[in-house]
Amino acid sequence: MEKLIDIRGVRHTFRTRTGPLPVLDGLEVAVDEGGFTAVVGPSGCGKSTLTRLIAGLLIPDEGEVRVHGERITGPRANVGMAFQNPVLLEWRTILRNVLLPLEIVPTKLPKRDQEARARRLLSLVGLEGFEDRRPSELSGGMRQRASLCRALIHQPEVLILDEPFGALDAFTREDLWQTMHEVKRNEPFTGVLITHDLREAIFLADRVVVLSGRPARTQYVLDVPDTGPRDLDHLYTPEATEMLNILRHQIEIAEGRAAEEPATAHPAPPPGAAARGMH
Ligand code: ADP
Ligand code: MG
Repeated sequence: MEKLIDIRGVRHTFRTRTGPLPVLDGLEVAVDEGGFTAVVGPSGCGKSTLTRLIAGLLIPDEGEVRVHGERITGPRANVGMAFQNPVLLEWRTILRNVLLPLEIVPTKLPKRDQEARARRLLSLVGLEGFEDRRPSELSGGMRQRASLCRALIHQPEVLILDEPFGALDAFTREDLWQTMHEVKRNEPFTGVLITHDLREAIFLADRVVVLSGRPARTQYVLDVPDTGPRDLDHLYTPEATEMLNILRHQIEIAEGRAAEEPATAHPAPPPGAAARGMH
């Protein structure tokens, strides 16, 4: 399968008022076309910085970032982004918020189809009937759903989700996970999900990348086996428990709470899971 996103040997140091701050050192992330990769790692290690690399908002000191084989040299319009804080515009209706990227990014979609597409996306995420509401009239979960539609409206090459469900309560979050699966079935995308939630990572993604503490390198990659449509019960299977244990252990290493052991000392990966350390 073609690598849609290919990040190799990336190093980057921010120059701050208090001196140089190395944030990335040995970042390797490959996402297949149609793939969904979750990125986990300690707070402040460089996860959001990674999303800025993919969007072309940051050019690294060293290494390469390629999308569709093309080296990124500047900001890219064909990226959809959603964040923990949905930042919807209060003076626009939900429908008009979803349509916003089409006013900024050139589109081949005729005007009349744009609105139909926005309405279809809103209905896909369960917001049918809320098209004419204002953001403040919606719950946090609903605003996040609308923000997801906005990120997808221009059929972006890459969908970047930076902790989009982080501020939601557990039930709302799990509802949104299910919605994400629904969206992926109907609106195939290639995605990168930054998250702190390991269950979220294995429930939504087909690959989980663990970053080390700052400066971040790719410490570990776990391929989540494709076992068909996932429901929440999947999170309680022995295979899922094993994957969560592996990831939890890797996070402990990343946070310096556990010593890095030889790859052979890790618990055996679940059947069919290709787990590999990147040391
Ligand atoms: P996180 O993994 O929590 O998303 P970030 O990628 O946001 O981490 O940030 C990584 C580190 O780089 C943090 O210490 C942050 O303060 C610092 N940082 C991020 N952006 C900049 C910038 N533009 N200039 C200086 N330092 C930055
Ligand atoms: Mg961040």
